[in-house]
Order: sequence, then structure tokens, then C-alpha cells
Amino acid sequence: MEYDVIIVGAGSSGAVMAARLSEDRSRSVLLLDAGPDYATLDSLPDDVNSIHEPSTVHHDWGFDATFVPGRVAPLPRGKLVGGSSAINTGVAIRGAPGDYDRWAELTGDERWGWEQCLPYFRAIEDDRDEGGDFHGQGGPIPVRRWTREELQPVQQGFYDACVAAGFEEDRDQNDPETTGITRAAMNRGGPNQMTRWSANLGFLSQARNRLNLTIRSHCLVDRVLVEDGRAVGLRVECDREVQEVRGREIVLSAGAVMSPAILLRSGIGPAEELAELGIASAADLPGVGKHLMDHPMTPLLLHPTEGVVDPAKPLLQTLLRYTSSTGEFNDMQVYLLGHILFAPGGRYGTWQGDEDAEPEWVFAVAPGVQLPHSYGSVTLASADYTVKPVIDLKFDEAEADRVRLREGARLAWRLAHSAELSPFHTGPVDLDQETLDDDARLDEWIHGASSSMAHPTCTCPMGPDPAQGAVVDSEGRVHGVEGLRVVDGSIMPTLIRANTNFTCMMIGARIADWMVEELA
Ligand SMILES: Cc1cc2nc3c(=O)[nH]c(=O)nc-3n(C[C@H](O)[C@H](O)[C@H](O)COP(=O)(O)OP(=O)(O)OC[C@H]3O[C@@H](n4cnc5c(N)ncnc54)[C@H](O)[C@@H]3O)c2cc1C
Repeated sequence: MEYDVIIVGAGSSGAVMAARLSEDRSRSVLLLDAGPDYATLDSLPDDVNSIHEPSTVHHDWGFDATFVPGRVAPLPRGKLVGGSSAINTGVAIRGAPGDYDRWAELTGDERWGWEQCLPYFRAIEDDRDEGGDFHGQGGPIPVRRWTREELQPVQQGFYDACVAAGFEEDRDQNDPETTGITRAAMNRGGPNQMTRWSANLGFLSQARNRLNLTIRSHCLVDRVLVEDGRAVGLRVECDREVQEVRGREIVLSAGAVMSPAILLRSGIGPAEELAELGIASAADLPGVGKHLMDHPMTPLLLHPTEGVVDPAKPLLQTLLRYTSSTGEFNDMQVYLLGHILFAPGGRYGTWQGDEDAEPEWVFAVAPGVQLPHSYGSVTLASADYTVKPVIDLKFDEAEADRVRLREGARLAWRLAHSAELSPFHTGPVDLDQETLDDDARLDEWIHGASSSMAHPTCTCPMGPDPAQGAVVDSEGRVHGVEGLRVVDGSIMPTLIRANTNFTCMMIGARIADWMVEELA
């Protein structure tokens, strides 16, 4: 049989696409995901249900990334229906208006500007705390801010330290004008308001009953089948059997690591590099995988005083946004991460300790750059779809990022040593005053502490000109291949000043609407 639309990846963007495209019951939609499918709230395993902590082990792809030369650590990505939205930290936030206006400039399509994206952000959410022009009510994703009563003492200590340091109190991180310290808005719901409300729970739960929507889990897509310049189907390993499936429209929503990897395996990418791997070119697109962006983060780890760290409590409840010396509005975020299992001598790239070392619970003040200038890449090590792609984040490429990480480390130190936060710890794990005062030594510390906020994006950027690195046009169509789109975080032309889940859902909703118009 031939489906009208096949979507690869049921994550933040893919789940939204599938729900919207299957509204028309005459359109057959197949949604494939490599991970398991938990179809109901009751069936969610604890790590997928609880918003207290991202799930970075049990439903993870197991990717390693080189953060900076010589430092390799895990880069978590959700492998289940719901994608990374089903395992993430749950901060519900959008980028700054200027981020989307910049997209409009880079794509030459004004529909990506802030004013035209805002109605989609509003439609996604059901904000239980805030109304007005910038918020939506009645959408599928519930949004709630932590209340003062819900804050753990150490989170309140961080909040108070930020206020004492002169930062504004921000009651609503999704008002575009705001900055400062806030009790974070989270996408959480369920009986005790502690369930991470993923794109699966929000969008697919409303569409699962449709006979024209088929959701297949445990289906690992190898590549797109291209005939005479048109995508006609997919090669998929499903329950250990390799099969082919045909579709009139193919949409890759496999995320910023796997969407470019699937394109590359399909012969869509830099032809010369693909030839070295024995992959025949279907479309010579030099930009595939080449524009990887992510938010670098350098957590200042702190030894807690007794009783401060409780891994059963939420990891993140407070969020500071500020403008660095570069003058770019809200280009920095700082989290108070309430518990991290750190292995001395090990690595803490994704907050997991090294299995071989004796781990220790710590907490962290964690600054991260929101408007990075560094670019990395996703490339293939092999044409074999069972081999993981190579992820090179190059976090230390740009001096502007190094400047902001130094400032961030010094601010984290000041906040940690404030009267409000110092009662919660006995001192930093691996940073001292001499290192802090010396740029060269601090750079070395930053190198070793480099972590990711887990927001890889921009590996198949939208834009008009493939020669300038664009992979898809402003409606997600792959340049040079008919019937093939990429719709997920990978098509952001540049990274936004925020965590990326809501923007990925917005991307899915926008392009689904355009597809509905086109396919009508
Ligand atoms: C640990 C962690 C914490 C985060 N915290 C936050 C946060 O607090 N707030 C926030 O806004 N954002 C957060 N993010 C980022 C956000 O969740 C992601 O940016 C967003 O979910 C990405 O959406 P996507 O649609 O691009 O990809 P994903 O949601 O990752 O979806 C991709 C889907 O494709 C499937 N897939 C991939 N390859 C294949 C293949 N070959 N065959 C079949 N299926 C495939 C995957 O299994 C997955 O389900 C976090 C991410 C992580 C990992």
C-alpha cells in the first residue's frame, strides 16, 4: 500500500504534524518511531511520567558527542513516541521575538516572524497562570509555574541570591519583555501536576483513535528511497525485519541528530563526502549536518550541606535570564540544578556519573549561552544505519561564547557564595578563586566543565540557497528532492534564546497547516 503521508519520528514536531495531518479522515498517515509507544497516562514508566528529572538513560539513543576537543560525553535524545518532549526537563518557554524575526530574514519568509508565530505558541498551550496577549488557554499542553510553596529551599536560596544581586523578579518568562529570575513555567499536568506533558500526551492522545492514523513503534528508519528525484518511500527495520514502505509525501521529524543522518544515508548531502562512504548522491546538498548549534553550559558543582540534595525532588524550579556584556538581550540563562550524580574523575556532561567511579550527589549553579556563535556538525561514520552518527559540537569555536562562559562562571561563583546560597553548600567541587581570577586557567576549567543544555538544532537549516548551506526551503521542503520534507528542530536557521521544545512543536504546527493547504 501507499500512504498519503509518512512521518519519521513521533517527537515534538512529528507528533504535532501527525495529529494535524490526520484530522482529514480521507488522508492516510503513517507515523514511525524507533522507540516504544506508551499510549496512555497510566502506562507511562516512572522516568517518562515524572517531571522531576529528565530521563537520560532508559529511553535514550545513547549518543556521544565531542563537546570541545578531547571532551566526549553523552548527548541525550528521547527514543520513544513523544521523542525528547517525553524525557526532557519540562521548561515551557519560547524564544525572544527577535529570534523568529531573524528566521524571517534568513528564510526570506515573513511568516516565520514573531507576530505570525505567536498565535501558534498560544494555540499549543493551556496556561493555567497567565492570560493576555502572549498566552493561550485551552490548548493541549498545560503550563504551570512553580509556586513559592513548591520551591525547594535551595531553589528559593538561588532565587533570593539573584534578587540580592540586583536581578529583576520575573513572574512570567513567556512575556517577551521580561528578564531576571523566575519560578519556571513547566509543561506539567496529571493528577498531581507532576507529569511531564509531552507531545505524545498533548497531541497524539487526541488523534490515536483515528483509523487513518497508524502509529508504529520500534521501527528504525534507515533511509529515504529516492526515484527520479522524488522521495517515494522508506527503508525501515521493523521488529528486526528490513522492509520498504511507500508514501506520497515523506516527512523526516527525527530530530537534529537523526534527520540529517537519514538524509545523508539517502545520498542527500555533500556528494564528495558521501562518495567516500560509498553512498551514491541523490542530491548534492553541502549544508546537511553542517550547521549544528546547541546551548553550551558549564555547571558550577557544589558539595551540598546535609539534607539539601534530594533526588526525589524536582531538578529545576528556578531560571535566571540576563544580558551578557555582548548586549544581546537575554543571551544567558542560569539554572539551579537541584541534584546531580557526579562521579569524581568522571564526566558529568549529562548529569550522569561515570559508572566506574564512586558517585556523589551534588547540586549546581549552571550558566549557559543562549545565542551561541559556535557551530558544529553531524556526520556519518558509516553508511550502515546501525552505526551512530558523529556529533561534534565545537562549543569553544567562537570567542564571543568563551567570553560569556567566563562571565557566567564568575556570576555562578558570586551567586554560590552569596549570603542567600552559601548555607546550602560547603564549597565548589572543582573550581577555586585563583582559577576564577585568571582567564587562561578559567578557560581550561570551562573546557573540562563543558556540557550541553541538550538543545541540538539547525543541522538542516531553512533558507533559499543550498549553496549557502540551506537544506530545506521555508516550508521544510528538501531542496532538490520532490515529496520530501524535514520538519523538526533541525530546520531552525539559527538557535533561539530558549529551551527548544515549544519551538519544535510550533514548527510542526505551522508546517502541518501549510501542508494541509497544499494537499487539499
Ligand atoms: C535531557 C533533555 C532535556 C531537555 N529539556 C528541555 C526543557 O526543559 N525545555 C525545552 O523546551 N526543551 C528541552 N529539551 C529539548 C527539547 O525536548 C527538544 O529540542 C525537542 O523535543 C526536539 O524535538 P524534535 O521534534 O526536533 O525531536 P525529538 O523530539 O527528539 O523527536 C525525534 C523522534 O524521532 C525518532 N527517531 C529518530 N531517528 C529515528 C529513526 N532513524 N527511525 C525512527 N525514528 C527515529 C526518535 O525516537 C524521536 O522520537 C531537552 C532535551 C533533552 C534531551
